[in-house]
Amino acid sequence: MADYRCPYCGSQSFHLRDPQDQYEIYEFDLRHGKAFFIPSEEGNAQPPDITDDTETYCNLCSWHSKFNALKRLG
Ligand SMILES: [Zn+2]
Repeated sequence: MADYRCPYCGSQSFHLRDPQDQYEIYEFDLRHGKAFFIPSEEGNAQPPDITDDTETYCNLCSWHSKFNALKRLG
């Protein structure tokens, strides 16, 4: 599977926001196109499923877009 990276900075660290709660953030690393969630100190609930339409935010720069934009770029 392709490796997906941020098109601006090349990072593979991203986060997404809970669709029900915009203050709830789930960090994850992308490896070989798969998301590996990083447990938060507060112990997040189960991370939401990532779909093509999930808004995805880079952890290192200001890039964000739908998850399928990463797939197109990868
Ligand atoms: Zn970036």
